[in-house]
Amino acid sequence: MSTFKAPPKKSLGQHFLADRRYIDMIVLAVDPQPGERLVEIGPGQGAITLPLLRRHGELTVIEFDRDLITPLMEASEGVGRLTVIHKDVLQVDFSKLAADDGHHAGRQIRLVGNLPYNISSPILFHALEHAAAVSDMTFMLQKEVVDRMAAGPGSKVYGRLGVMLQAYCRVEALFDVPPGAFRPPPKVDSAVVRVVPLPAAEVGIDDHALYARVVRDAFGQRRKTLRNALQQVCSGEDIAAAGLRPDARAEQVEVADFKRLANYLAALPPGQRPA
Ligand code: SAM
Repeated sequence: MSTFKAPPKKSLGQHFLADRRYIDMIVLAVDPQPGERLVEIGPGQGAITLPLLRRHGELTVIEFDRDLITPLMEASEGVGRLTVIHKDVLQVDFSKLAADDGHHAGRQIRLVGNLPYNISSPILFHALEHAAAVSDMTFMLQKEVVDRMAAGPGSKVYGRLGVMLQAYCRVEALFDVPPGAFRPPPKVDSAVVRVVPLPAAEVGIDDHALYARVVRDAFGQRRKTLRNALQQVCSGEDIAAAGLRPDARAEQVEVADFKRLANYLAALPPGQRPA
């Protein structure tokens, strides 16, 4: 078996998972089923790749670091069919990937990855742009980010990230992972999260840009009431007519209520709609 000789690169967020228990927990959480199409982002030295490959028999990985490609291919020999895409994941078109793949063509992909933390949010939103091609994501991220993604109303960390994400996905924090599980250890705690895009019919947002604007303004000044924070978008009467309390603060408002308000505004006659 080949060795990975290059030292970890900080600029690529390389913190390699080294604790068997957490590797096993991730593989169990993914629990790949026959015929499923798995795509791992940032396989690194193969900590998750090889156990997944052993279990599932085939896997596609997307890795940006040239130094890791050959050792990864060598390590996978005799384990299973590994397809390596040497690219920046933000340049990978997941819809095309799902559509193109030979005998699995047209089947949704399942994304897995211990993500480079410096670009974890861009990766998440990039994947969501291709939500129809992605059946679920099991990602390791900074725990602080996972807490924000999964938070509900009333939580101190409930905010724009959670409300944007939960409008389009089911978000489930699975388990925490301490710095000592990685080589080299990161400075922060980590956590594994599952994100499952909702079918379009369940999302129920009539105007996506307007929804994003309502959420952005509502949390722009989170201590303000909705009536004040949303002054540029709508009136207190609009907020009440949509069934929300104008004196509530964004941090108390459910995702379903943000959707109701945005849909109410989207349905107003042209002259009364937010510009
Ligand atoms: N999966 C391995 C593990 O758990 O040990 C490595 C995880 S490490 C936190 C992140 C990985 O993502 C590294 O292998 C790094 O080279 C890769 N990476 C960083 N930026 C990337 C990008 N833009 N596109 C694809 N891979 C990237």
